[in-house]
Amino acid sequence: MVQRLPALLRRRKKPAARPPQPPRALEISGLPIPLELRESARATRMTLRVDAGRGLVQVVVPVGVSETDARQFVGRHDGWLRARLAAMPPSLPFVDGAGVPYLGVEHVIRHDPALRGPTRIADGALLVGGQPEHVARRVRDFLTAEAKRELATRARLKAATIGARVAAVTIRDTKSRWGSCSSTGRLSFSWRLILAPEPVLDYVVGHEVAHLREMNHSPRFWALCASLTDGTGVDWPRAWLKANGTRLLRYG
Ligand SMILES: [Zn+2]
Repeated sequence: MVQRLPALLRRRKKPAARPPQPPRALEISGLPIPLELRESARATRMTLRVDAGRGLVQVVVPVGVSETDARQFVGRHDGWLRARLAAMPPSLPFVDGAGVPYLGVEHVIRHDPALRGPTRIADGALLVGGQPEHVARRVRDFLTAEAKRELATRARLKAATIGARVAAVTIRDTKSRWGSCSSTGRLSFSWRLILAPEPVLDYVVGHEVAHLREMNHSPRFWALCASLTDGTGVDWPRAWLKANGTRLLRYG
């Protein structure tokens, strides 16, 4: 039997000042995680939730909460966000037959136990030998080595054009940033950049090399960064990372 509440007892919604706005992307510098800001007429406080299916984090706010307040709220939960992201299982594992982008070009992992020689790229495939249980590690080791070669070579070449010196290039699996530059000239990059299209990898190198001269994000920095980035400029690679960064974190 369906019971209906007497009309008087039905919760009367307080009319909102204006209807909720459609969800929109919220940019937080230093976080490669797409964040979506969603206004909800029913929300009474701000909440953060991970949408694993869409590979993003949603911040839900009551109607009328300012973007500044939402940003501060997300900032206060920075540690939580990073921990949640790190705990998300890689949903695109390196197994035989799986696809993996190499410099943005899709390749298929082909495992053949009889394969001789090192893991390598050939004819649109990533060829791996050895035991099946070692395939994921071998693919990752290969991509990390390729990333190191690409990133270090480009970093030294770009640095030379502005008379700067790269002290060291380190490859890491950072969840929070694609690259960094220390005051002593040590550059660090995520191995996952080798998965991104070439102009994206190139831009991140240009960005960190530009920091060897300008330890800030001033207009002078961005002009130098653009001069160190080939072809596409900085806008397209930045937009690409914002839109696709999270996906890169799910490989492996
Ligand atoms: Zn920077």
